[in-house]
Amino acid sequence: MLPNTLSIIKQSLMKESLLPPQKLEKLLTILKKYSKGRYIYPGVLIRELNIDMSTAYLVLNSLKNLGLLTINYEIYCHKCSKFTGGIFETISEIPEEMECNEMGHVLDPLTSSIVVFKVVQDE
Ligand SMILES: [Zn+2]
Repeated sequence: MLPNTLSIIKQSLMKESLLPPQKLEKLLTILKKYSKGRYIYPGVLIRELNIDMSTAYLVLNSLKNLGLLTINYEIYCHKCSKFTGGIFETISEIPEEMECNEMGHVLDPLTSSIVVFKVVQDE
């Protein structure tokens, strides 16, 4: 993300006090690497910032509310522990019957879709 976008994020997150200052700085360093069209996985923030899942989602939802991110759904096979089967913009686009690309496991769309955040605005 570009400096201007990062400064908007910084101001907004400081107001919301979702993260302590040093974690906020680290978040901005991470977000620098994500340009428009890339996907941000909540797990990356959980791991890199050492925060819990609900905080990661609060942070990403806050960026979504700024118009920077949208929610997408990526298919994940829990048996293979891999993302497999593509990314969908809405839940209704996910086919009711799917198999994973790795081993052909039958996937349930609801339990096999993981929320990812796509960068849609960066200027
Ligand atoms: Zn599988």
